[in-house]
This record gives sequence, structure tokens and C-alpha cells, in this order.
Amino acid sequence: MKLGYPNHPRRDLTQEIAWIGRNGFDFIDLFLEPDLGESRDVVPENIRDSMSEFGLDGVGHLAWYLPIGSPIRELREGAVAASKRYLALFAACGIKKVTIHAHWPPSMFSVEEGIEFQTKSLKALLEWCSANAMTLMYEPVGDSREDRSTLEHLFNLNPELAFHLDIGHFNLNGRNPGDFAEAFRDRLVHVHLHDNDGNRDLHLPMGAGKIDWKAFLPRLKAVYDGTITIEVFSAEREYALHTQRRLKEVWNTL
Ligand SMILES: [Zn+2]
Repeated sequence: MKLGYPNHPRRDLTQEIAWIGRNGFDFIDLFLEPDLGESRDVVPENIRDSMSEFGLDGVGHLAWYLPIGSPIRELREGAVAASKRYLALFAACGIKKVTIHAHWPPSMFSVEEGIEFQTKSLKALLEWCSANAMTLMYEPVGDSREDRSTLEHLFNLNPELAFHLDIGHFNLNGRNPGDFAEAFRDRLVHVHLHDNDGNRDLHLPMGAGKIDWKAFLPRLKAVYDGTITIEVFSAEREYALHTQRRLKEVWNTL
């Protein structure tokens, strides 16, 4: 298991990398998005140098609000064009695995149409990733349409798409994240870890919400031992470091 932490895209990236490196993380979950991580301002050489100064590996994270599943074709095409620009920047930073988020159309469109819109965008991006030796990871966002059969259908339509399990997102809408870790174990390549109350996507420290970690973590470790980002967004970062320490302690006893 390798532990990472994301930079806040509205804070100075060099300082964020230094904080992540000094606090014992193995990698940065690099959020390249506005405002301070906007594509036109990103200098990949500087990011690479800072990461190597602190011995950090990296995974990439596209903005969560890219409209890849919009019913409006022009918006989807814009999302694909923007994603390709950012994917090229991640590649220039030496990063090989990048997250893209699910995006669902308004409820007047069917689940099937939501899959179709997203698949159009994902196909274009997967082609780019395949030509550039990169892995695209799909992160469901906690939408009620993301049940097992819908995700199976979407993954079957996109054989090269990897699965990103965001534990907090899969604790919403009455679901259990352990079920999804097991169901999609063959595609699982990255994890985001945070807690919530089952109703809202709160990004709380582990143990501050209602996830049954004693039951969940053994299920996760039985199918996965890769990169995990502590996606705790409390303003006081000591909470994220507490999760980092506790997770290591618990994981080592499993
Ligand atoms: Zn996440």
C-alpha cells in the first residue's frame, strides 16, 4: 500500500508538493485545474523537479466537473479537448495514471443515455491514453445511478477503462464500498479514502463519519494493495495526518 495526498488547486503547487513530501507521503495526487493548476500556467519541468526533490511519485486527477456526460455535444467535445490538454501535461510530469470523474446528464435523460454520452467521451480519451501509454481511471461520484449493473455495462463498453474506488462516494445512496471493491477488483487501480455520514460527500477523516472501517478495510486489503489517496479536506491538515497514521497502523495488522 502506498499513501498519497492531493494538492489544493487554489494553493501554490510548489509549496503543496513540499508539504506532501515532508509529511511522509509516497505520492502526490496531482490536481491540475483552476485556478493555480490551470493548464496555461503549469510548467511540468518544475513539477517534476519538486516531486523528485521530495522523492514523490504521482497520479493525476482531472477536474471533477468536466461535462463528459453532457447531452450537449459541444460541451462533451470541449470536455474531451480540455482533458487531452491536461493529460499531455500529466504525461510531461512523468505521470501514467490519471483519474476522470463520472458525469451524469439531468434526470430527463435515461441511465442508458448517460452511459452513451459518457462512453462517447471516454472512447476518445482512451484512444489518446492508449497511444501515450497512460491509464485512464474512472471515478464514480456518488450518483444514485452508479449501481453495480450500470457500472458493469459502462466498463464492458470501455474495456481499457480502469476503476477508481472512492470509498466515500460509494458510501452514499445506501451502497457499501466493500461490495464495489470486490465487484470490480480486476479493474481496481486506485483508491480515494475519506469518511461521511452516508448522506453527504463530506470528505471527513477516517472514523469521523459512519463508514464501518473495521469491516471495510479487511475486504479492501483482500483484493487491493496499491495507491490510496487520503482525500480528507478538513481545513486543519492534522486531521489528514491522523488518518494517514491510523490507516498505516490498521493496515499493518490485517
Ligand atoms: Zn475522490
